[in-house]
Amino acid sequence: MKPIIVQKYGGSSVATVERLREVARLVAERHRAGNRLVVVVSAMGKTTDSLIAQAREVAPQPPRRELDMLVTAGERISMALLSMAIHELGLTAISFTGSQSGIITDESHQNARVLEVKPNRLFEELDRGRIVIVAGFQGVSRSREITTLGRGGSDTTAVALAAALGAEACEIYSDVDGVYTADPNVAPQAKLLAELGYVTMQAMAGAGAKVLNADAVEFARKAGIVIHARKTNDSSARETRVAEPAREPAGVVAVVGAQAVSLGRCDGATAAAMVPLIRNCGGRIVAMHGDEKATFIIDRTGIAGSSHVTLEKSIPGCALTDAAMVTLVGNALLARDTVPRAVAALVAAGLAPLATAANDLTSSFVVTSGRSQDAVRVLHALFLETPATVA
Ligand code: ADP
Ligand code: ASP
Ligand code: MG
Repeated sequence: MKPIIVQKYGGSSVATVERLREVARLVAERHRAGNRLVVVVSAMGKTTDSLIAQAREVAPQPPRRELDMLVTAGERISMALLSMAIHELGLTAISFTGSQSGIITDESHQNARVLEVKPNRLFEELDRGRIVIVAGFQGVSRSREITTLGRGGSDTTAVALAAALGAEACEIYSDVDGVYTADPNVAPQAKLLAELGYVTMQAMAGAGAKVLNADAVEFARKAGIVIHARKTNDSSARETRVAEPAREPAGVVAVVGAQAVSLGRCDGATAAAMVPLIRNCGGRIVAMHGDEKATFIIDRTGIAGSSHVTLEKSIPGCALTDAAMVTLVGNALLARDTVPRAVAALVAAGLAPLATAANDLTSSFVVTSGRSQDAVRVLHALFLETPATVA
């Protein structure tokens, strides 16, 4: 049997028809080299953002079910166009939605979790020698509703399919050649991490490094799928291999910024009452202190449009501040003087933290809205750049 390879191409890799044609050529090459290929695609460019913005023009808080019906159309456009482009190259491809691919999720619109994958149709088509294209980011619930897997969820589609198909490799292609010590578009000094453990990558993704989706990494860890994060159409062989590490070194591995964060203080309500409200509107609780007078750090990235106002309306009675965040990710952070050194450097740079949440794997600092990139550069320079030696 020819090995099955699952590849995923992200939004920027399929942003234009010309880029889709390029992906079609790469896929055809790999198919001709003797692999059975399942190719997961994201929506073209910023299509998902545009669809969400359109929905908000019609209704400030659109029904979650209808929002899923809308945004899943983005990936369907890509899958059909890629399949057509492959046909033009003389090969047969067939595209499927998440539902047709047998991706069964829970009922949670916008943030559904994959429960099970029944890839019978995919196997049938691979056996016929066809290239299978799958629309990323989506599935179907047991009550037959269309769901989406959270922002960046095409990564999860790829990993879930790789596990269900027993694929030999899961390759995730984007506009960067792997995972860096910080977003290379923010910190030009950042270095490529050739090998990365699941837990560290999951913590990075959870803190806001969108290069890989956190649920996808968690799924990969549980299923033992090695992820190869690479750049589309790059023959340099550079990549990050995300797998179970032999050994995780102590200290800071990466610095991650998050631009859409809310800092909440609720005097009246108990923390327990707040949790479901925050989760319901798609916010992720980064940290929570106290019960009667709860303080929260909420990452809004998962909220459609990342709107601070939406969150404020959904959590009545709480004072929320629009903020940003920087997180150090690594190992044994508490055993070192990481937190006080980071705070001192941030204060010296005029970025005094509004709140801090630290554990052994991550230390997060909430900073003023709009300043996360500055904070990333300050902490990357402190922990991950070797100071130039003075002659
Ligand atoms: P795709 O659309 O292909 O899924 P994403 O935009 O989701 O790609 O992820 C790639 C982007 O992730 C890069 O353009 C980069 O700006 C950003 N990024 C954030 N943190 C990192 C990091 N630590 N290493 C590499 N890229 C990162
Ligand atoms: N198109 C979706 C998003 O923008 C899913 C993805 O790109 O992985 O979040
Ligand atoms: Mg992505």
